[in-house]
Amino acid sequence: MNTLHPEKESPVHRPTAWHVTHWSRDSYCRGAYSTLLPGGTPVHRATLGECLGGRLVIAGEACNPRAPAMVHGAWDDGIRAAKLAVRAGARRVIVIGAGCAGLGAARHLRAQGIDCVVLEARERIGGRTHSLQLGAVTVDVGAAWLQQFDDNALAREAERFGVRLVATDFGQPLAAASDGPVDGIDAAWEALRRGIDRRLPLAEGVARYLATLTPAEARATRYAIDGNLIIEACRPLEELSVDSLDEEGVGANDHFLPGGYRQLIDHLAAGLDIRLEQPVARIDWQEGGVRVNDERGDFCICSVPLGVLKTLQFVPALPEPQQDALAHLGMGTLEKVVLQFEERWWPRSPTGYLRWYDTPASWVEWLDLTDAVGKPTVAGLIAADAVERQFSGRSDEDIALAARDALQAWARAVEAMR
Ligand SMILES: Cc1cc2nc3c(=O)[nH]c(=O)nc-3n(C[C@H](O)[C@H](O)[C@H](O)COP(=O)(O)OP(=O)(O)OC[C@H]3O[C@@H](n4cnc5c(N)ncnc54)[C@H](O)[C@@H]3O)c2cc1C
Repeated sequence: MNTLHPEKESPVHRPTAWHVTHWSRDSYCRGAYSTLLPGGTPVHRATLGECLGGRLVIAGEACNPRAPAMVHGAWDDGIRAAKLAVRAGARRVIVIGAGCAGLGAARHLRAQGIDCVVLEARERIGGRTHSLQLGAVTVDVGAAWLQQFDDNALAREAERFGVRLVATDFGQPLAAASDGPVDGIDAAWEALRRGIDRRLPLAEGVARYLATLTPAEARATRYAIDGNLIIEACRPLEELSVDSLDEEGVGANDHFLPGGYRQLIDHLAAGLDIRLEQPVARIDWQEGGVRVNDERGDFCICSVPLGVLKTLQFVPALPEPQQDALAHLGMGTLEKVVLQFEERWWPRSPTGYLRWYDTPASWVEWLDLTDAVGKPTVAGLIAADAVERQFSGRSDEDIALAARDALQAWARAVEAMR
């Protein structure tokens, strides 16, 4: 086992395998997940998902005000859309997208005996859940957790199918900062949420709030924003709604799937009529029927990611309230690196959850997957403008090595605090 030394003697820990994601430049995604732009509220999510003309519903994580930006939120929303189709008396439904929302919709329709075809652009199903082999282990390069576990219908499906799940705790990170010890982050976060003037645009409200604090309090608050808001809402403060402070994310009894989301997705897709490599660019939803590519039906459920939704042609155009909702929602930028090593050289966090506070922010959140997957493996997350800073002009290998450097800096800082 390597031990840690002062900086200039540090051994170089070279990953034996790695994967770097590029969700933001993926043309079937165009970002990681939806977020509230300035002026945006959860009501815009609900409005986007309204049933239009008795024959079109937009669905997916972006339309779920209760569990946005999460897999089970997408699943629930697909089922919600399918129920609207049933209520409208649909006999043949075209579902666009075979992510969790599309699969939820199609399963519900099939259970009701309604004819349903799923058109999926990629050569695979699962959308933003995507399990890959990294060396000998399966890793998720999109979603990796079932969140809000106790109130998560998809988690109940995973249990029903016997998928192995491991409880994790995002509440107690082993945290370190590049400029010395950190504490009081949680308290600073709660104080910000209570103390900020919510009538102001978010960036201005934060700036005014910070001006009322001592330097130590302001430092903790800035790190709390990086660790609790930006890594969740995935845009810089200037591009976020004040309501982003309240959208739920990790931290509610989350469960990891050591064998990958793929196992669950395969169970959910079994028996469905899914057509792969069927990219959709236009949805005709005139009175009298819907037409998508070569398919005709009497109802359409469109579950493409918000970033793609903004590029689709609707004939007729979407009604004004839905266009307004679209303008108040945007895709956030979040990327993941998974690094695998011969040995676990970094300090162990009791919960497996690590945070690295740097100025400017870089790889803020890390999860030590070693115990769950049985090989020294970590996943790092980076969001918003930090992605451009860390990715621009670099090959995937260089990005992976820069992420490794951040992990190594975190490890040194943790050792220094001991
Ligand atoms: C890095 C990362 C980590 C995440 N971590 C978590 C986590 O741990 N837990 C969690 O709950 N959530 C997490 N999420 C969010 C979660 O992945 C999404 O909220 C969820 O998977 C969205 O499901 P969906 O069905 O709405 O959309 P998607 O899964 O994106 O499904 C949409 C489908 O539409 C297809 N499609 C796109 N364009 C077209 C087109 N033109 N024609 C036809 N089909 C098209 C896509 O290929 C895709 O299959 C994470 C996301 C990312 C990016």
